[in-house]
Amino acid sequence: MPKATLNVKLLDVTENALALIYSACRQCYAEEFAGDIYEKIKDDDVKQAAFIKKIIASGHESPLEHVKFTFAIEGVSRALTHQLVRHRLASYSQQSQRYVKESDFDYIIPPSIEANPLAKKEFERIMALIQESYTRISEVLSEKGLSGETANQDARFVLPQAAETKIIVTMNCRELLHFFKHRCCFRAQWEIRKLAEKMLLDCKKCLPLLFSKAGAKCISLGFCPEGARFSCGRFPVKEENAKEGK
Ligand SMILES: Cc1cc2nc3c(=O)[nH]c(=O)nc-3n(C[C@H](O)[C@H](O)[C@H](O)COP(=O)(O)OP(=O)(O)OC[C@H]3O[C@@H](n4cnc5c(N)ncnc54)[C@H](O)[C@@H]3O)c2cc1C
Repeated sequence: MPKATLNVKLLDVTENALALIYSACRQCYAEEFAGDIYEKIKDDDVKQAAFIKKIIASGHESPLEHVKFTFAIEGVSRALTHQLVRHRLASYSQQSQRYVKESDFDYIIPPSIEANPLAKKEFERIMALIQESYTRISEVLSEKGLSGETANQDARFVLPQAAETKIIVTMNCRELLHFFKHRCCFRAQWEIRKLAEKMLLDCKKCLPLLFSKAGAKCISLGFCPEGARFSCGRFPVKEENAKEGK
């Protein structure tokens, strides 16, 4: 039962992303057909960039929904994916604990536990115990004639939130910007923040025009909306801004 580490691989990005966003924006205001606009603009990066920047600054964000990123993710806990799938404007395909037997499940150790020998020892002890218990329950159920899939689906009830899982996620650019606002914030839980930061790096590389200033919401706001109690201190909190009349 080895310890798992985060791995994020960008599988796919919509081709000609900027031309697509540009055409979608233009269609809103032009008499001309977007199909023709797209062909004309496809290779004019400068024109696309200038127009898209202006449109996004105005808050007209729906054209961003036409461009999607697909990531393959492994080495994350079930605790992480439970948070990830709360983002509803996305598509997910996750490794099943019914069809895939957890005969030797990997797990994620939180950094605070990793750094504390006593806590780590206890954590590893319980992981090994859970593995034993899972395997024993599967065997007993199989001996009683249950199929592998049925035995797995019931034995998995003893598995921990730390159990490693693999998932594919597809999000459009508008949802990604929203996801980064929440999940790159220091208030977000450490594991999903780490994942969001890795996904953001890929997005920045592929589409700097859209993502160069993406990240926690304080980056676009210029202040921390979390309040003094929760702020990480990177930006002044909203209350301080309000006092100063900003
Ligand atoms: C720091 C932090 C702590 C959290 N703590 C908890 C917690 O303790 N308990 C808990 O249950 N959750 C918690 N969450 C999860 C949070 O409440 C959201 O469920 C999650 O962040 C998904 O974001 P979202 O709702 O913006 O969804 P997304 O699905 O990403 O939706 C994007 C946007 O679309 C719109 N939208 C989507 N669906 C609807 C809808 N049905 N109706 C109206 N508008 C919609 C909203 O504007 C939404 O912001 C936490 C999240 C964070 C970042």
